[in-house]
Amino acid sequence: PPPPHDKTHFGGLKDEDRIFTNLYGLHDPFLKGATKRGDEYRTKDIVLKGADWIVNEIKKCGLRGRGGAGFPTGLKWSFMPKASDSCPSYLVVNADESDPGMCKDREIMRHDLKNLEKARREAYEAGFLGKNACGSGYDFDVRIHFGAGAYICGEETALLESLEGKQGKPRLKPPFPANAGLYGCPTTVTNVETMAVSATILRRGPERFASFGRKNNSGTKLFCISGHVNKPCTVEEEMSIPLKELIERHCGGVRGGWDNLLAVIPGGSSVPLIPKHICEDAVQSGLGTAAVIVMDKSTDVVDAIARLSYFYKHESCGQCTPCREGTGWLWMIMERMKVGNAKLEEIDMLQEGTKQIEGHTICALGDAAAWPVQGLIRHFRPELERRIRERADRELQQAAAA
Ligand code: SF4
Repeated sequence: PPPPHDKTHFGGLKDEDRIFTNLYGLHDPFLKGATKRGDEYRTKDIVLKGADWIVNEIKKCGLRGRGGAGFPTGLKWSFMPKASDSCPSYLVVNADESDPGMCKDREIMRHDLKNLEKARREAYEAGFLGKNACGSGYDFDVRIHFGAGAYICGEETALLESLEGKQGKPRLKPPFPANAGLYGCPTTVTNVETMAVSATILRRGPERFASFGRKNNSGTKLFCISGHVNKPCTVEEEMSIPLKELIERHCGGVRGGWDNLLAVIPGGSSVPLIPKHICEDAVQSGLGTAAVIVMDKSTDVVDAIARLSYFYKHESCGQCTPCREGTGWLWMIMERMKVGNAKLEEIDMLQEGTKQIEGHTICALGDAAAWPVQGLIRHFRPELERRIRERADRELQQAAAA
């Protein structure tokens, strides 16, 4: 039975409550270790219960996709049509985690499947994969494809294009992958962490998973905490843990103490920047991929956001105009804002520019480029104004001296 869970105390997960990472590093990462951990326990029973049962269990536990968008997993899986003889069904496990600050899926693969090819081979030899996988009567093949490093290939339809050997450019939706995915066949694209935790949810029952976190944000989650903390780490925690507690408990606190904190990007660069005064318990808002980037007061916050703008300009696939042109434009203005080489009214123009990109593109990269800049203007406008005024004053003084 699930352990009693006191919702009023967020003291952090105990080691034994970590759902799928509690034994990482303690066993051989290959089949021998997986068997010792009981990773394949009841797999055949679960498969024989059928797709509808599996989808319902995942719906009941409230799991939301761990790739960043947070779409309810059970609902997404329910979109797959019934299997047909004319087209195979594909499950694409998306391990393309190139969001700045994100390093969780590689942890899962490093400890469970240190060498993916070796682990796959062992699973085939043991009969867990291939024809009649686990003796279930189903055929289940797994292939591993390596990406070539483009950020946009983490977008699910760009990933499918890339798997098909084409340029990694997101598709217009609909149709969605469940109807026309890989090679036009029904496909579910699921993040590594979502997949990794699902097996344990099915074995232990949805109630246990739902007993962690909060309603509509249940379960445990891998947080990758980097930047100006004493001990950057990746750790599995409850979804409900306040940001301050997460940082203090697992990272030894902010470098120079909590008072030295300037701002945090709480969920990967594609979610807004939040300043210190709302950091204390913020973690649910814009959790994204839970790649927490901590910035202390030594950070040039305008420079940091300008660097992100460059990242999105560089990674845009270029097929829609607001993103292709807009991300380059944002970056150029941000470079000027960095040194105060702008007019005060350009701050509003910059904001307006982000609004012209947000929601007007094929995929979410446009939004991801717009939000950090919007967060900067919302929370650090006085800093932008200060730089512009100081530069203008300097130029006036130089002109007067000349
Ligand atoms: Fe490509 Fe950007 Fe359009 Fe996405 S938003 S499809 S990355 S141009």
